[in-house]
Amino acid sequence: MRQGDAQEALVNVCERVLVMDIKVGDILQLKKQHPCGSKEWEVLRVGADFRLKCMGCGHQIMIPRRQAEKNVKNVRHITRPGQGAD
Ligand SMILES: [Zn+2]
Repeated sequence: MRQGDAQEALVNVCERVLVMDIKVGDILQLKKQHPCGSKEWEVLRVGADFRLKCMGCGHQIMIPRRQAEKNVKNVRHITRPGQGAD
């Protein structure tokens, strides 16, 4: 094994820790509570900005990815039928 391979592998691990694995359809639990009382948001779109829908009242917001990741307390991944246990 070349030395470069080990270095690359290390970088990959670091990135996986830093970048949250958030996908469309996931439920995010944020630190801040929406005025309606819900803390859970459904992910409608990911990219530079996240589009989130409040699970309590259906209100939709767009927030920058960084801000979203900072405010996320928990991510609930939706297992789609036929996808298996990941
Ligand atoms: Zn709400």
